Amino acid sequence: MAANKKLLVLPGDGIGPEVMREVRRVIDWMERRRSVTFDISEDLVGGAAIDQRGTPITAETVAKAREADAVLFGSVGGPRWDKLGFDMRPEIAILTLRRELGLFANLRPAIVLDPLVDASTLKADVIRGLDLMIVRESTGGLYFGEPRGIETLPDGQQRGVNTEVYTTNEIERVARVAFELARKRQNRLCSVEKANVMESGLLWRQVVTALHGREFGDVELSHMYADNCAMQLVRNPRQFDVIVTTNLFGDLLSDLSSMLTGSLGMLPSATLGLPDSSGRRHALYEPIHGSAPDIAGKGIANPMGQMLSFAMLLRYSFDMEDEAALIERACTNVLASGIRTADVMAPGTAKVGTSVMGESVLRELEKLSA
Ligand code: NAD
Repeated sequence: MAANKKLLVLPGDGIGPEVMREVRRVIDWMERRRSVTFDISEDLVGGAAIDQRGTPITAETVAKAREADAVLFGSVGGPRWDKLGFDMRPEIAILTLRRELGLFANLRPAIVLDPLVDASTLKADVIRGLDLMIVRESTGGLYFGEPRGIETLPDGQQRGVNTEVYTTNEIERVARVAFELARKRQNRLCSVEKANVMESGLLWRQVVTALHGREFGDVELSHMYADNCAMQLVRNPRQFDVIVTTNLFGDLLSDLSSMLTGSLGMLPSATLGLPDSSGRRHALYEPIHGSAPDIAGKGIANPMGQMLSFAMLLRYSFDMEDEAALIERACTNVLASGIRTADVMAPGTAKVGTSVMGESVLRELEKLSA
């Protein structure tokens, strides 16, 4: 038996608990068939925590997350809680976890699986085989910089202010994650900012270049302005291997690249912190989709984004490459066999709900490991 792996599961709201249920079945299967043991606890976040505990996330839940080897997050939010004040929004749960666990590197893969090549709005020959990773800095930059706020000027007008700020350390630590990832992939990194018009972008470029010279000379490094990158992602996305960028540009470019794949319900993400002296780092894994209130409770959500987030968790937090790849293979094979949830339906395929999709993946896992 492998050592226990401490996992905190936070299903959240809307379709979060529905898709997480299918992941729990995959975890049960792994424990039964692959001799791995997970030490799992589950807790409330988001609207569910507001309803029962009056806050989007309690200090106890944050403490559990800190003790865990990895956090598997569902999604939070929904119209029921939309009118609450800014500090009471369900989304505060995820922002709090990012801040408290120091999760500064958001990894967003955009992979086009062969069976879904026609799901994109882009032509199949532009995106076939796409396998891109965007590393977005996620605790600094414009969304956190000071000064910020809305002030009233002497003439009665109002002025809204946000500030883009980056320090050397903030840039270095996220660039290091990206260089290391590139080494495990095609060894190419593109650093994206707007050094032509922003001082913080100029510093970004200088720091990434210096780090490259000091520690990562073997990785092919290029630089690109963010506006050009947006254009290149649509024109020829396969030119990229790993992209590293700021919080603001990463927010936009990762949403853009996820839509290259044409399937919001399929995409996972990871957010990593700094490793401690023993090499252990805090990490949170979640699908990129939200709580999808429009389909919540109907049993039709695609559980694959959540399952593939669990595969990322196995790969990056537990070094279980074989098991991660097995889940990814099983998902691809199920889609190729023509079994689809409504969001990735195509002519000639069979529409199934969340739990039948879960069962199909389990059956494929069984087949692949027979
Ligand atoms: P969304 O991702 O929840 O939904 C967008 C569209 O995609 C909807 O039509 C939805 O039905 C569909 N969709 C999403 N996931 C799907 C899946 N797994 N299977 C099938 N279809 C799927 O985004 P939204 O509608 O902008 O936001 C809804 C709520 O989720 C809001 O309260 C928002 O704040 C919240 N949200 C939370 C997170 C998070 O928890 N990290 C992220 C994004 C949005």
